[in-house]
Amino acid sequence: MKVLLPKEGKLFVITAPSGTGKTTIIDIIRKKVEGIGYSVSHTTRPPRRGEVNGVHYCFVAREDFEKMIEAHEFVEWAIVYDHLYGTPVSSVESTLSSGRDLLLDLDIQGAQEIKKQFPEATLIFILPPSLKILHERLKRRSAQDDTNIALRMEKAVEEIRKCRDYDFLIINDDLKKAAREVEAIIVAQRALTERRFPLVQEIFHV
Ligand code: ADP
Ligand code: 5GP
Repeated sequence: MKVLLPKEGKLFVITAPSGTGKTTIIDIIRKKVEGIGYSVSHTTRPPRRGEVNGVHYCFVAREDFEKMIEAHEFVEWAIVYDHLYGTPVSSVESTLSSGRDLLLDLDIQGAQEIKKQFPEATLIFILPPSLKILHERLKRRSAQDDTNIALRMEKAVEEIRKCRDYDFLIINDDLKKAAREVEAIIVAQRALTERRFPLVQEIFHV
């Protein structure tokens, strides 16, 4: 049977204060949800334990990142905690034009920029159950020193203040429940009439 894909895929942007559990949730979604791609960002920050080059990030030297900026190879890029992060144009273009959806893991600056360029993008913000629990999760991940954790806690409060600009808010208390909610958003957005009607037209000639 011919599989009908929508003409254009949809962008899903996920933002969360560092340590909330965003990477963990994205890993679950990437395994579980069919037909969704993941844009592997470029970054100048060093890999954390367990992170794989080309899977979680493309880890590049600052010099190479700067060359890519000059060559307009990023849809958006930002400085986060003194490191550069960027979304390559190539992954966004190729995925969307093939009709596949694409998941982007971005900070608030990146999410705003994507919304400007792609107003139909769905923005999802993930929150920790409390600041105390966020602090515990950051400590457990323990890839950073205490000063860094303090900085991330400060930034978390600033970011949470802006969560109202997002389309959906997910609280990551129970991990499975949070991942199920993100999945439900993706599934529901795919069934929106404005998105699905072109397929219905093609099948039923209405
Ligand atoms: P982020 O990508 O948002 O910075 P991570 O996915 O690296 O965060 O998660 C930070 C830490 O919190 C990890 O040790 C992860 O295993 C843990 N974690 C994530 N979600 C939950 C949850 N719902 N309950 C308890 N621990 C969690
Ligand atoms: P981390 O170093 O903890 O993986 O990510 C730090 C922050 O950078 C997170 O808020 C993450 O969402 C954000 N980030 C990751 N990739 C990109 C990107 O390509 N662009 C932007 N703007 N932010 C990114």
